[in-house]
Amino acid sequence: MIQLQKIARVFQVGDEAVHALDSVDFSVAPGEYIAIMGPSGSGKSTLLNIIGLLDRPDNGSYHLDDVDTTHLGDRQKAEVRRHKIGFVFQFFHLVPRLSAADNIELPLVLAGVDASRRKERVKTALASLDLVGRARHRPDQLSGGQRQRVAIARATVMQPRIILADEPTGNLDRASGKDVIEILEKLNDDGMSLIMVTHDPGLGSRAKRQVRMVDGRIESDTGAS
Ligand code: ADP
Ligand code: MG
Repeated sequence: MIQLQKIARVFQVGDEAVHALDSVDFSVAPGEYIAIMGPSGSGKSTLLNIIGLLDRPDNGSYHLDDVDTTHLGDRQKAEVRRHKIGFVFQFFHLVPRLSAADNIELPLVLAGVDASRRKERVKTALASLDLVGRARHRPDQLSGGQRQRVAIARATVMQPRIILADEPTGNLDRASGKDVIEILEKLNDDGMSLIMVTHDPGLGSRAKRQVRMVDGRIESDTGAS
């Protein structure tokens, strides 16, 4: 489903070239549960951003469902992202002025889903994430755990097959973090591929496959074929 070959990403910072990813080979099959671990600055977020089509590699190829994404234009990439990938961030990235319900509805609006269908899907999402009483609240009127649940609802309302989570519990207390992990694991049980960056070894060990990054390379991968 996801196939990265010899992916490189170099950031130019002043005179210095930072090799955020250095010849990374990585494949993901449908329904996998993968934890990506490694020290700060090892390239975990860069890898996730490339998989999520939020960033492009400087070298190498990335095939998503057998389509070479490096040849897609920005609009095509946005389209693929909207339908196939849900992204959950450490700092939620909700739209501050919009209510929980409107944040969740946004991807449906962008995808041109009609109003009655949108309403129905948002209602289902709010219910399944235990947010019914919070639909009209803005992000600043929600707890961290509630914000992340809204972000998960937004990431999954288009029913993507891949969910990417970059330190999704990094900004939450223990109890809300556990809650969020259990929600993500439930989505994986229901068939979504889950790729999660974490530096919590306890969380990482829950995944069926562990990938460890060091200096822009994959140092170990329990699921490498
Ligand atoms: P991690 O998520 O594992 O902490 P990142 O993927 O964020 O690591 O970063 C990998 C390396 O690339 C780091 O050295 C970081 O400073 C650098 N880097 C990441 N994004 C940028 C950017 N936009 N501009 C310059 N350097 C960057
Ligand atoms: Mg990171």
